[in-house]
Formats: sequence, structure tokens, C-alpha cells
Amino acid sequence: MSEILTSTIADRYKRISERLQIAITAAGRPMDSVKMLVVTKGQPVEKIVEAYNAGARLFGENYPEETARKLNTLTAYTDLQIHMIGHLQSRKARVVAESFCYMHSLDRVSIAQKLNQELESTGRTLPVLLEMNVSGEESKQGFNAWDPQQWGNLLDEIGQIAACKSLEIHGLMTMPPLSAEAEAVRPYFQKLSKLREYLTFQMPSIDWSELSMGTSSDFETAVQEGATFIRVGTAIMGPRTYKKLSI
Ligand SMILES: *Cc1c(COP(=O)(O)O)cnc(C)c1O
Repeated sequence: MSEILTSTIADRYKRISERLQIAITAAGRPMDSVKMLVVTKGQPVEKIVEAYNAGARLFGENYPEETARKLNTLTAYTDLQIHMIGHLQSRKARVVAESFCYMHSLDRVSIAQKLNQELESTGRTLPVLLEMNVSGEESKQGFNAWDPQQWGNLLDEIGQIAACKSLEIHGLMTMPPLSAEAEAVRPYFQKLSKLREYLTFQMPSIDWSELSMGTSSDFETAVQEGATFIRVGTAIMGPRTYKKLSI
């Protein structure tokens, strides 16, 4: 914590990027096989600009209206990309269709259909990942995927999402239970990776290449287990200060 208070966002961005490179190399994976989102929910625009100036281009946000407000003041940063990583209420679908370039947290068929409808009127397509609840924790969003015996039940719903022509499925995302121990979450990352193998076999016409998993406390474990996107917030940005604006 003391380090978070005395170092700058640029210092921490550099250090986490170095740790990521070391983890990728140690896992014997190509350097460009893992992309890092800097998670900026609850962070003011000035801090987003600090991360941008340190080299970050991919950002993760959770609340569409908070994000749209921030984007209004970030129009000069044309190569900045914002990915939606939070639970999306259907009345906010339009904001995501208009302002976000990727959605990691697609967690139900009805929101896929709503997004698809909004996108049709804009003419855009949106890359999406399907959020999976691989822990069975009731508080977690995502398709129910904790029991591998039940994975067959996902196929019908995924088929309905695949039928949404303005959405492009690229893989899976998960948020494991909070734990102080990076090792404790490894089984959940492994389960998401197994689920990807299963879906690749069952639905080979869909692209399942991306796995979005791993946060500040466990991204190195996630890289070992095949993450292609990691989502790092506090380890780079420091504690979240901005009040949650949209309920
Ligand atoms: C907030 C958040 C993160 C970042 O978590 P940190 O612990 O701050 O790194 C990652 N993924 C999701 C879905 C989040 O909501």
C-alpha cells in the first residue's frame, strides 16, 4: 500500500508491464499473446490521461454513463480504446453500442439481443466475450458454468447469441471469487480454459481464441493458465476514488 501512495501511475504501469513480460516469457508464450486492459472505473479523467501518457491504450470500464462522460473529455485521444467489463443493464445497452469498442461481460441472451438491436441502428459490430461463472458463487454474474457436467446446457444460449449478426464472439471472460491468494484462483482459470476447449470442439465455427481473466492480484497465474486479456486496476491506478455515478 505504501508503494501505491508514493509511486506514480507511470512507475506502476512500467512495473506491471515488466512483470507481465516476465510471466509471458516464463510461460513460454509469444510476447504479443497477452493484452493488458488498465481498469479505470472509479478513476478521474486526469488519471486516465496519466496512464495513457505512460503508454496504455486499452482501458476497462464498468459503468456506461460514467464512461461516456469521461470519453466526452477524451476525444483528442483517438487511439484510446475502452472495453466494457461490468454487468450491463439493458437500458444502458445503447451507451455501450455507441461508446465501447469491446464487451467482455456479456452474461445473458437478453442483453445480447438488446445490444444487437442497438448496434443494427448504428451499423457497427461489437466484439464480445461471454462471461462465465465458473465458481458457482451466487453473487457472480455470468452464465452458469461451474459444473462441467452441465456445460451442454450452454450450447443453446450460445447459439442464440451467435445468431446476433452485429455481435462477434471471440471467447470467454471470468471473474473468480475474491481471494488474497493468487494460487486459490488457479482452479477457476483452469476451468475457464477447459470450457474453451469444450466449446471449441462443440461449436468450431465460433472463434474462442480469447480468454479474459486475471486482475491486479492474480494476473501472473492467469497468464500461466492461458489468459489473452488481463484486467489490471488498482495495481496501476491506485485506490478507486471517484464515486460510482450510475446505478
Ligand atoms: C474492477 C475490475 C477489475 C480490476 O480489479 P483490480 O483488483 O483493481 O485489478 C477487473 N475486472 C473486473 C470485471 C472488474 O470489475
